[in-house]
Amino acid sequence: MPRSVSKNIISQRISESKRDDVWLLNRLNYLWDNYFKDVEQINPVFIAFGRYSRFRLGSIRLDRINKKSYITITGMFRDPNIPVEVVDHTIAHELCHYTHGFSSPKPRLHKYPHHGGVIKKELEARKLHKLVKAYNQWLKEYRKSL
Ligand SMILES: [Zn+2]
Repeated sequence: MPRSVSKNIISQRISESKRDDVWLLNRLNYLWDNYFKDVEQINPVFIAFGRYSRFRLGSIRLDRINKKSYITITGMFRDPNIPVEVVDHTIAHELCHYTHGFSSPKPRLHKYPHHGGVIKKELEARKLHKLVKAYNQWLKEYRKSL
């Protein structure tokens, strides 16, 4: 399929998507309540879709002034063809950063946010291996499309 045609199909799917910021917040709440229950939310945490980014799938930042944490998920994930486990994996990844004291007011547990595979270890410890697996599978195919 020529690139421009497939691009139109994706933007069509995104414009009709039921995935909005409320949907995203429901995914965050589901993950927090079921897999990060021990992690106390000590400041307001927001989540929203950002611009369409093919390489930066998610991020978390702490606003130094208002002390609120903001999770941003690529607008690409509005596309209902992206498995929900892939979206969940991205949210859970950012929740690990929050847990480890990066972009959150919590004490820092590591020197660097991705030190020695700490995210994967954290996800595995929280019984989220299924998300890691789904993400790796998706990533394999996605890389071919780039
Ligand atoms: Zn990260």
